Amino acid sequence: MKVAFVNLKRQYKTYKKEIDHAIQEVLDTAGFVMGPKNEEFEKAFAKFCNKKYCVGVNSGTDALFLALKAYGIGDGDEVITAPNSYTASAMAATNAGAKPIFTDVDSRSYNIDPTKIEAKITKKTKAIIPVHLYGQPADMDPIVTIAKKHNLIIIEDCCQAHGAKYKGKVLPHTDSGAFSFYPGKNLGAFGDGGAVVTSSKQIKTALEYLRNDGSIEKYVHKTIGYKSRLDTLQASILLTKLKHLKEFVEKRRRAAQKYNKLLKGVAQIKTPVEMDYAHNAYHIYAVLAERRDALKKYLRINGISTVIHYPTPIHLQEAYKDLVYKKGDFPISEELAAKTISLPMFPEIKGTEIEYVCETIRNFYSHQQR
Ligand SMILES: *Cc1c(COP(=O)(O)O)cnc(C)c1O
Repeated sequence: MKVAFVNLKRQYKTYKKEIDHAIQEVLDTAGFVMGPKNEEFEKAFAKFCNKKYCVGVNSGTDALFLALKAYGIGDGDEVITAPNSYTASAMAATNAGAKPIFTDVDSRSYNIDPTKIEAKITKKTKAIIPVHLYGQPADMDPIVTIAKKHNLIIIEDCCQAHGAKYKGKVLPHTDSGAFSFYPGKNLGAFGDGGAVVTSSKQIKTALEYLRNDGSIEKYVHKTIGYKSRLDTLQASILLTKLKHLKEFVEKRRRAAQKYNKLLKGVAQIKTPVEMDYAHNAYHIYAVLAERRDALKKYLRINGISTVIHYPTPIHLQEAYKDLVYKKGDFPISEELAAKTISLPMFPEIKGTEIEYVCETIRNFYSHQQR
């Protein structure tokens, strides 16, 4: 049996009629850039997130970057974030002119450890970017307390957490969150896409200028901006898929529960912990595995694709050599990087596929023992 890490074709097949219709509508009206579908999607996604506004942009990376800019974060500022994430969580801060300051994560949730944040705060600290890694919310209440005490902005990296809930409420928990609609994400476009949702009118307006060359009225440029709009074809596809997002998340959760059940008792595997405050959206189903690299190879030989999220923590990336971090600075993140392996996970994954993956993992460890 072959099991793909993510099979995007199944979702397209299921919703082909609706999606093709949505694409055709844009073609027929020729409203290709900032067409009516953009506004419609923004309204619907803001509502899904229980926020007043949503501003579509061209990627999750830009959503983070432009959100930082909208809050006035830039040269000389410091932004606290986690080192075990996709590089964009930190690079957005760097591109805004700020310096990312890493803080190690909690060994159960894999998210930023709130008890380690205050030690990192200096006079230059302006913001915290908690990452809701793999779809599991970071523990937001203590982060909010720290942010209030030190007058810091919070921008949530929700790029893996569409539909995840913290204490029963859909993320983002605070005023502003950045989302990616990269094809494999919980809500995925057919190309790049992203958005910031926010409850602040001021931030919404600032973002509308920033994403469109500093202009909201044709040929009137009030500020220096960027070209980072959400493509209208993508907005129409996202609007169609958004109707099914709750169901996508529930299907991911069911798949995760099946994995948890079938991997129970495999001593060499640690399955993810759903924190008691969390409704995990399981963008990624990552386990910690003994002899991880050999397991990955064995799964590949047996037709199963896996991915490592992420093999090198951000502080050890060459791009950040100037920050002079070294191995050992963030032991938990580094240990996770060495042991983590992400198993096939997408809403349409079949029960038989999960069974095959788990059986193959069991085979790997029992053979090694002999
Ligand atoms: C995907 C992702 C991003 C970046 O999103 P893009 O749309 O690929 O630019 C940022 N942070 C995290 C945690 C992500 O998973």
